[in-house]
Amino acid sequence: MLDYQHKLTTWLVKEYDAVFVEDLDVAGMLQGEGNARNKQDAAWRQFITLLEYKSDLYGTHVVQVEARGTTKECASCGVETEKPLWVREHSCPSCGFETDRDVNAAMNVLQRGFPN
Ligand SMILES: [Zn+2]
Repeated sequence: MLDYQHKLTTWLVKEYDAVFVEDLDVAGMLQGEGNARNKQDAAWRQFITLLEYKSDLYGTHVVQVEARGTTKECASCGVETEKPLWVREHSCPSCGFETDRDVNAAMNVLQRGFPN
């Protein structure tokens, strides 16, 4: 796991000038939703720590953004819609924007990373 994270973070800071990552949902973590979730959070925390350390060496910007709502929010118009986990597509009832669920979330992370 650590070896993989080292390779991935080194590649990221060499390849890109800026990297945007979702902040940890600390509230969710404290509720203790089970061991698997906690392990995932610990891995993500370690990943961000590595990323920030290496970004200093390569002059890459690492921006942590608020993760809450990135899945629900429409990347095009900003309207939030409830979206169960099994719904893999984003289809906005307000503006009609359609894309993959994860693509929509990634676009929101990107938009939050840039100063308005
Ligand atoms: Zn929309």
